[in-house]
Amino acid sequence: MNLIDRIVQFRAEIQAIRRDLHAHPELAYEEHRTSDTVAQLLAGWGIDVHRGLGGTGVVGVLRNGSGRRSIGLRADMDALPIAEANGFGHASKHAGRMHACGHDGHTAMLLGAARYLAETRPFDGTVNLIFQPAEEGGAGARKMIDDGLFERFPCDAVFGMHNWPGIRVGQFATTPGPMMASGNRFEITVTGRGAHAAMPHLGVDPVFVGLQIAQGLQGIVTRSKKPLDPVVLSITMIRAGDAINVIPDAAVISGGVRTLDATVTDLIEERMRQIAQLTAEAHGASANVIFDRYYPATVNDPAQAAFAAAVAGDMVGRDNVLADYEPSMGSEDFSYMLQACPGAYVFIGNGDGAHRLAGHGEGPCMLHNPSFDFNDELIPIGATFWVRLVEKFLAR
Ligand SMILES: [Zn+2]
Ligand SMILES: [Zn+2]
Repeated sequence: MNLIDRIVQFRAEIQAIRRDLHAHPELAYEEHRTSDTVAQLLAGWGIDVHRGLGGTGVVGVLRNGSGRRSIGLRADMDALPIAEANGFGHASKHAGRMHACGHDGHTAMLLGAARYLAETRPFDGTVNLIFQPAEEGGAGARKMIDDGLFERFPCDAVFGMHNWPGIRVGQFATTPGPMMASGNRFEITVTGRGAHAAMPHLGVDPVFVGLQIAQGLQGIVTRSKKPLDPVVLSITMIRAGDAINVIPDAAVISGGVRTLDATVTDLIEERMRQIAQLTAEAHGASANVIFDRYYPATVNDPAQAAFAAAVAGDMVGRDNVLADYEPSMGSEDFSYMLQACPGAYVFIGNGDGAHRLAGHGEGPCMLHNPSFDFNDELIPIGATFWVRLVEKFLAR
């Protein structure tokens, strides 16, 4: 693997920053300390700092030469409302909050790249270093775009990177087209008429109707959509009733839908409304459906995905780039940036948990697990990748 020597030299300093961020996790739109840290470091390295986009977002701008091309590199900064189970020295000091998705590491890798780029300026054009808030459900990327991100800091292409447990350290993965799914949530309220449980004929039982609807919804996945279109439809909450001898007035069924394509989401929503409303009607009840599309699918531009794969291949060898990686049905708000600007999302292998022998507590585990920890081995790898991407995109 070809790492940049200078980045390897200052890795310990960036690792200390990563562990400090890990110890002080902040939730969506509350990343004040993190945002201050990022802004101070960037400014200290001579980078132009812009704050306030999306609330706590930070954009660092580096210009060099007379080139008019520009590239955006994005890291996310927020943590999750999870109580950390790790006992190591840099474990969370904030009760009930934790960097369980590795955004502390994403921020650190981009800071490492920023420091090197500021020192050496090995490019001709503009680098926009985008540190965004609220990736975990808060749509911080969209908020930054609404606040004028791409008008104020135009980018010819934008790239995002996420650590991925299960992919080996020293490997990268991306894909042309959809990389992660859209995130959608639904809530179906079935209204019937309450009654004594011994006299169901005097009421309309919303629990019975709700269960018919719940069964019917899975028929959308198996019967209505094309077999080759990936869809997950999960009912994750059913709420009704307070007593075993009372038929309640209403039942609420909620869950999530993931797809890789908005036209498939359209179909799921339309069929969900039909099944809920017509099933309810058939039994003398009514159903109200709320369907909320909170994140679109993350869709890579094929040319930019190929570019990122080639840059990674030069660095770690072509065999270590999974350039046609299977999409994840998780979701990611970098999708909004890719709707506004061509670009690509890349996974960087976080390994199998072996790094945990070196004072990281238990492992291995997946993202959003209370025992997760970002693998610090990735700091020089990710930072070098960002730098190589810039050098090639903005070649002199
Ligand atoms: Zn996450
Ligand atoms: Zn994440």
